[in-house]
Amino acid sequence: MTPWTDLGGGVQVRQSRVCWMNSALLLDREHAVLVDPGVLPSELDDLAAAVRAAGTPTVSIVFTHSHWDHVLGRPWWPQAGTVGQAGLGAELRRDAGAILAEATGHAARSGEAWSRGFQPFEPDLVVEDDRSLGRDVSALAFGPWRLVLREAPGHCDSQITVHLEDRRLLFAADLLSDLEIPWLDREPAHYRHTLTRIDLLISCGRIDTLVPGHGSIARGAGEAHARVRRDLRYLDTMETGVREAHRAGLPLDETQARLAAMDYLGKGAAYPMDDVHRENVRITWESVGREPA
Ligand SMILES: [Zn+2]
Repeated sequence: MTPWTDLGGGVQVRQSRVCWMNSALLLDREHAVLVDPGVLPSELDDLAAAVRAAGTPTVSIVFTHSHWDHVLGRPWWPQAGTVGQAGLGAELRRDAGAILAEATGHAARSGEAWSRGFQPFEPDLVVEDDRSLGRDVSALAFGPWRLVLREAPGHCDSQITVHLEDRRLLFAADLLSDLEIPWLDREPAHYRHTLTRIDLLISCGRIDTLVPGHGSIARGAGEAHARVRRDLRYLDTMETGVREAHRAGLPLDETQARLAAMDYLGKGAAYPMDDVHRENVRITWESVGREPA
């Protein structure tokens, strides 16, 4: 079993042993673009060897968000230009210690040594939705690769998706996995909005392959669409349950106990989502409590 999936036309996805995390490599003689290169040192060596073998002179790295498993690759391409959302640098500075601890711990548990440290950085190229112009995208060209980057809040403030429009291919960051439920960092409305925007792109035929940050690739609009619907259903069921519990005057721990009965992806699985679900309930419960009566 190779960790590589060839999507054709120079686009490859490499899956890590850690959390089934996906890194993308867009390879061309002129310009290579990496999306979230990671996670273990041996895996980054493997990605670097693929870039080297192609003899590509210019490398750019797009970081979809600041979570530890997505931001470790920079030392392997010290000359590469980096791209990220406007808030990425501040989040990396805030979380640098935790990112290094995760990298070191996961490498050790996989029988490897993490020796490259972690230095927070500001991306060379900053992506920000331009709300003043009513625009919500950044389109960037890297050699032959034309990428449309969109902010995708709900999981992490700095999250962006990477759309290779001419290939109808979306790198969805930590969204729409077949292993993970929506992993909230704030009340569900933002996540729901992000999913709805992606759904619209699928519906009008602009996405038919979807590469999530973790797990397997969704092939075809039908499968991509099904993942959106599944995640929207999860958010709706969870939020409705939390609102009912809140109205009934249940405290947080009893709300979490009640909602533990809910069915969801990754429940009791080897890659368990139970803590994520419990935390989603907490975030939602607290946000409902802040709403005006
Ligand atoms: Zn994440």
